[in-house]
Amino acid sequence: MSYAPRPQLLRRARPAVLVTAAALLGATTLAPARAAEPVPPKTPVAIGSGGAVSSVDPDATAAGLKVLRQGGNAVDAAVATAAALGVTEPYSAGIGGGGYFVYYDARSKRVSTIDGRETAPATMPHDAFIDPKTGKPYPFTPELVTSGVSVGTPGTAATWAAALESWGTRSLKQALQPAIGIASKGFVVDQTFHDQTNDNKVRFAAFTPTAKLYLPGGDAPSVGTRFKNPDLANTYKLLGDKGTSAFYRGPLAHEIAQSAQHPPKAPDTTLPVPPGYLTEADLKAYDVIHQKPTKVGYRGLDVYGMAPSSSGGSTVGEALNILEKQRLSSMPRDKALHYYLDASALAFADRGAYVGDPAYVDVPLKTLLSDKFAATRACLIKPDKALPTPTAAGSLKGKGCPTATPKTFEDNGKSTTHLTATDRWGNVVSYTLTIEQTGGSGIVVPGRGFLLNNELTDFSTEWKADDPNRIEGGKRPRSSMSPTIVLRHGKPFLAVGSPGGSTIITTVLQTLVNRVDLGMTLPEAIAAPRASHRNNATVTAEPEFITAYDSTLKPYGYTLVKSGDEFTSAAEIGAVAALEFLPHGRVLAAAEPVRRGGGAAGVVNPR
Ligand code: GLU
Repeated sequence: MSYAPRPQLLRRARPAVLVTAAALLGATTLAPARAAEPVPPKTPVAIGSGGAVSSVDPDATAAGLKVLRQGGNAVDAAVATAAALGVTEPYSAGIGGGGYFVYYDARSKRVSTIDGRETAPATMPHDAFIDPKTGKPYPFTPELVTSGVSVGTPGTAATWAAALESWGTRSLKQALQPAIGIASKGFVVDQTFHDQTNDNKVRFAAFTPTAKLYLPGGDAPSVGTRFKNPDLANTYKLLGDKGTSAFYRGPLAHEIAQSAQHPPKAPDTTLPVPPGYLTEADLKAYDVIHQKPTKVGYRGLDVYGMAPSSSGGSTVGEALNILEKQRLSSMPRDKALHYYLDASALAFADRGAYVGDPAYVDVPLKTLLSDKFAATRACLIKPDKALPTPTAAGSLKGKGCPTATPKTFEDNGKSTTHLTATDRWGNVVSYTLTIEQTGGSGIVVPGRGFLLNNELTDFSTEWKADDPNRIEGGKRPRSSMSPTIVLRHGKPFLAVGSPGGSTIITTVLQTLVNRVDLGMTLPEAIAAPRASHRNNATVTAEPEFITAYDSTLKPYGYTLVKSGDEFTSAAEIGAVAALEFLPHGRVLAAAEPVRRGGGAAGVVNPR
């Protein structure tokens, strides 16, 4: 659905902020900064062996590396990293949300996935997003974004348990220990965490428990102070002791359902906050889905991704199939980018027409991922001219260059987080998780220390019978999350993923094209400026991309428009965390050098 502008999720830049705080406060009286734990150096690239982790956050990456050093495997490390992100990046991801976990098993050489997407409550009506007072759709902001009605049944706790049970070597209790430590001892608030909280101040102030946790004394926590979340530490301890049944049944399930049905509104808020439908029965009925991954061949590589309910694997896969028909590596850069942009636009047209939760709609996944279908789409791209957009979805009957009703996409989210992990045995995890909006629904479950998602805003607002992403009780809203693992000759080559709403798809696609076709190293492929064509009339692009390519892409007919929104000072698209597997058992872990303040890559044994 269309997104209204949303606050950008900025990464915390802790070390820099501590220096600033020290300078401001005077080193001798610096109690808060002195209390800070040593922060692992934030580094966007690390090369070595014995295992690796890449995420947006140094504490979270360190949590994963600790588990690897103690003998845990990639799955154990991924869960530990994700749980730590729930503490330090609580506005992006946590047990109040959902995600998609992709796993390569070194022993069986197979890729498996877990769909831990949120579900719509069983009793959610088709017109849930229509305001009964006006008969019109609720405005996206603030009604749908800050609401109980957009809260889906969370899947993250079940995902962690399922991943550990299937492939891990540690119990949930063990995997949660590093995160419990961070939540109990706290982390030092820096400018970015402070700013994120401020961006959400009106929303957070609308709920008594959220204000209590994130606006202590009525304001965002100050830079240099230690932020503790003992409630979340206790919730994690509960999950560790009792298992996820303590989340999906019993008192906590009751409190989650109550928080969605009767959001704990502050008495003085003027926000409307439509109530939701989530019940204890929904939580009890929730289960993850062990899914076959999507798979396409691309220039001798096997690219594995997430099948629906995410549109990530099918859309990235279709675009790669279209692009494979061109020799991008021998083209001038502007021409290669032209093919990248139009392949994205075509794949997005098909995503809109055909992709939804396969439990509710018939998704023609096999066709969408077939070379034959790609051929009927690739023929539409003219060598010297951009496709007029929005372009139509393709015919599934195999007829080339068809026409149908176009669909466009506006959502451009910046929440969510991605992590990748590998271990000394060569297992690999690529995991994207989210609570949707930065700050999710804004609702903290009272006394439990975590925010509930607003993931159901990913459904289409208005119900149309032919829309694969229409609201249905129990259904998973269509996602764009694209955790990806690429094999070469059956062995891991790359693992990559990103946040960014529907731009996730183009960010993963562009990173792959940069690395595989355009001669860039993985760090270069991540750092390169991004553009995202989602079958709209214009192409969203970072300012650096516009500076570099506007004059050469304009003659094709593209209109590049700066990404970002009214809240955003830096117009960034995505935040990649990735791994590349090098010869002789070495791994290159890579994260963003600049976007979101830079990510954190680490290896067990640096080279
Ligand atoms: N809810 C989005 C999705 O599943 C991700 C949110 C974001 O990245 O802003 O596609």
